[in-house]
Amino acid sequence: MLAHIVVRMSERVSHWIDGQVVAGTSGRTAPVHNPATGAVTAEVDLASASEVAAVVARAGEAARAWRGSSLSQRAAVLFAFRELLHDRSDELARIITSEHGKVHADALGEIARGLENVEFATGVPQLLKGGYSEQAASGVDVYDIRQPLGVVAGITPFNFPAMVPLWMCANAIACGNAFVLKPSEKDPSAALFIARLWKEAGLPDGVFSVVHGDKEAVDALLVHPDVAAVSFVGSTPIAKYIYETGTAHGKRVQALGGAKNHALVLPDADLDVAADAIVSAAYGAAGERCMALSVAVAVGDIADPLVDAIALRLPKLVVGDGAAEGTDMGPLITREHRDKVAGYVDAGEAQGATVVVDGRAADVPADGFFLGTTLLDNVTPEMTVYTDEIFGPVLGVVRVDTYDEGLALINANRYANGTAIFTRDGGAARRFQYDVEVGMVGINVPIPVPVAYYSFGGWKDSLFGDTHMYGPEGISFYTRGKVITSRWPDPATSSVDLGFPRTR
Ligand code: NAD
Repeated sequence: MLAHIVVRMSERVSHWIDGQVVAGTSGRTAPVHNPATGAVTAEVDLASASEVAAVVARAGEAARAWRGSSLSQRAAVLFAFRELLHDRSDELARIITSEHGKVHADALGEIARGLENVEFATGVPQLLKGGYSEQAASGVDVYDIRQPLGVVAGITPFNFPAMVPLWMCANAIACGNAFVLKPSEKDPSAALFIARLWKEAGLPDGVFSVVHGDKEAVDALLVHPDVAAVSFVGSTPIAKYIYETGTAHGKRVQALGGAKNHALVLPDADLDVAADAIVSAAYGAAGERCMALSVAVAVGDIADPLVDAIALRLPKLVVGDGAAEGTDMGPLITREHRDKVAGYVDAGEAQGATVVVDGRAADVPADGFFLGTTLLDNVTPEMTVYTDEIFGPVLGVVRVDTYDEGLALINANRYANGTAIFTRDGGAARRFQYDVEVGMVGINVPIPVPVAYYSFGGWKDSLFGDTHMYGPEGISFYTRGKVITSRWPDPATSSVDLGFPRTR
């Protein structure tokens, strides 16, 4: 029972500065767990403000040099990094599973989605092309260029320890910036693995750094005058704090927050397609995805068969160690989070929801931070299981009579990251895409994470700032535009003989 406080395989996870591992000096560390066993597997260094300042200083020097690299040199590094990441994805996936808990296939999936962003960034010579207007006035040409910002920071959540850093660093580095990553202290080792791959790919030392830490390190980045921009992904209260503090200190900030994603299931939906999609999107990665579907809005008489179809599927999901063959769902990230999610189920039941499948009673491994799948029916908008982001394997079903009622419910929600509609009616789907006030929409697609050549972002309390992450908006975020207006006198008018004919 005391497994969570026993250090079984104690390792130290340190910073990555100037192309090498550097031990922290603050004297503060945090434990890293294997959530499947509850054991502490490592201690991660937590940086002080002065350690952060040293990282930023080194990154500043590296940024000045890296900015001078040619676009083809940068593309060559990105291609090499892409190959390494691809070839070593199995190793990285094992690291992710050992600290996050998600199943191996899911960890591989996260890396594949991150890899897409690296592939996008290899196109940097094309992506940084500007426009050119010849003869804007007589003898005057106007053109624009995009230049890097300098040192940019990424602060990332526990739930995608490889993909979310890759959303940011691939474009930031391709654009000629130095990138400082402050990963989640809960699963910090993937960041170091990625750092090693960058070095092996030929990235100059200092262009990619990792500084581990908690609020102290984050605050040091937010107020540092030489950090030009901050990309953040995490929970809504912290996203808001990051946005307000970073912008108050003159930085460009994109801060993606939490979510409460609804699936609208119309009466004409293909029941099996919808149930399969909802089960995978609600319970995959134990619901610890910002694009997880956590509310199914059942319209009209599809509600009973939908609840039955989902309930039928849940006992088939194998819950266990994500590293073991055949596991469908791993543990939650920490014991505290597991208990908090179970507490939401208690509250939902007390507030009148019907517990159709009870994850609290599931037969799950005793060690580790496991909770079974929970399905709650007759959820209403006042219940905390509806109002709050639970971030666990809990799906609530809200019953409504009409499309309009379902749409109004979704549009009234403070979160607006992703949503999905299930229907066989193209007109209804098109109307939904027009009406719904959510940043990413799936039509018979449960997790509509955009491909890397679009950009990712929600609306309302799911995004602070106005730039979405990665894709074209990522290139724009990590560069500043400069417009040049130039006049060159016609050489024919020159008093010096340049060898041009005197007529045009
Ligand atoms: P979190 O907000 O607790 O932590 C995110 C980062 O902020 C971590 O690096 C953490 O060290 C740092 N942090 C935490 N508390 C801080 C504080 N008080 N001051 C300064 N920094 C602080 O989020 P999490 O639990 O790691 O991740 C889960 C959350 O992230 C969920 O809400 C999920 O929806 C969200 N998320 C959103 C997206 C998206 O694209 N919108 C993607 C993934 C995760």
